Amino acid sequence: MEKIYVTRTSMPEFEEYIDAIKPLWESHWLTNMGMYHQQLEQELKEYLGVSGISLMVNGHLALELAIQSFGFPKGGEVITTPFTFISTTHAIVRNGLKPVFCDVKADGTIDEAKIETLITKDTVAIVPVHVYGNICDVETIDKIAKRNNLKVIYDAAHAFGIKYKGLGIGSYGDASIFSFHATKVFNTIEGGAVTFNDAEVYERLYNLKNFGIRGEETVVSVGANAKMNEFSAIMGLCNLKNIEAAIESRRIAYECYVEGIRKINKVSIISNDTADNRNYAYLPVLFSGEELRNRVYDLLKEQGVYSRKYFYPLTSDQECYGGQNNNSDISVARSLSSRVLVLPLYEGLQIETVKRILDIINALVVE
Ligand SMILES: *Cc1c(COP(=O)(O)O)cnc(C)c1O
Repeated sequence: MEKIYVTRTSMPEFEEYIDAIKPLWESHWLTNMGMYHQQLEQELKEYLGVSGISLMVNGHLALELAIQSFGFPKGGEVITTPFTFISTTHAIVRNGLKPVFCDVKADGTIDEAKIETLITKDTVAIVPVHVYGNICDVETIDKIAKRNNLKVIYDAAHAFGIKYKGLGIGSYGDASIFSFHATKVFNTIEGGAVTFNDAEVYERLYNLKNFGIRGEETVVSVGANAKMNEFSAIMGLCNLKNIEAAIESRRIAYECYVEGIRKINKVSIISNDTADNRNYAYLPVLFSGEELRNRVYDLLKEQGVYSRKYFYPLTSDQECYGGQNNNSDISVARSLSSRVLVLPLYEGLQIETVKRILDIINALVVE
């Protein structure tokens, strides 16, 4: 039986990639901000509709270094959400900062109405997540941040190519991060980027991603190594050529799911219509209860369909955080987490497969 996973990596034709990497055998220049790194930065700046971008080795380090670039005092508090991939919370904690968990709304994004109740004298930043590509209320968050003198760093790992009021989603806040991991809408095998408006952020990130080296004998600051290499940059250039077709293929499968799910009781899709466009990154469905969600997950698995409980458990409930940070009310996040299931969605997913998945769910729900 063919196994269907929740995602499948978009790849260029083999020959296309091989042709594209050939020049590396002449130049012997495989990393260190080579010409393909620079070219991908330019092309992504345009595609993402942002004024500044810095490519990184992955999305996680993009977030860690983006946070680090603002030089927050250790022990500072960061308002974020627990309904996300563990990377978001880790990036805060690994910067020596304390995550303060804010509840989310029905679309999975941070509940901006609850942010201010969590602000204390120690709060330094807000790290919201455009979860599943559903964008946050960036305008209200901006007002809250200005009023309270806080930085906003968006985890936009799911929001590749999304625009809001004509601007790239990565233009909002003080910085945003994207992930180009193999499982995402757009990939560079592993990779990521930080986007920002302030050109100075570029300089600080450059130092953080390349050991603070500014000359043969000059190190200006303490830095890590988080550069994207040329093989990854070329993978990105190839995949970017095909991005419209990849998203269109996802859209067709997504619409088929939408139509099917509309007819099934006790199941709905988690989404909002805030952004100018969608990238069809994920197909998150919400069941009426946890038991039904778990039964659907198990039955799909028995039939070779590997859905994922994104995001369950909440990051705040993971063993490494021991529930210790859980003082605020995160009941909506908890409710979503217990009932959500992300179904397979990727470029090239067959409509027959979508229908088969819908049939399996339907059979269980009406049972
Ligand atoms: C994928 C992802 C990341 C991490 O990106 P990597 O490229 O895998 O390091 C961070 N946050 C969210 C929400 C993600 O989905």
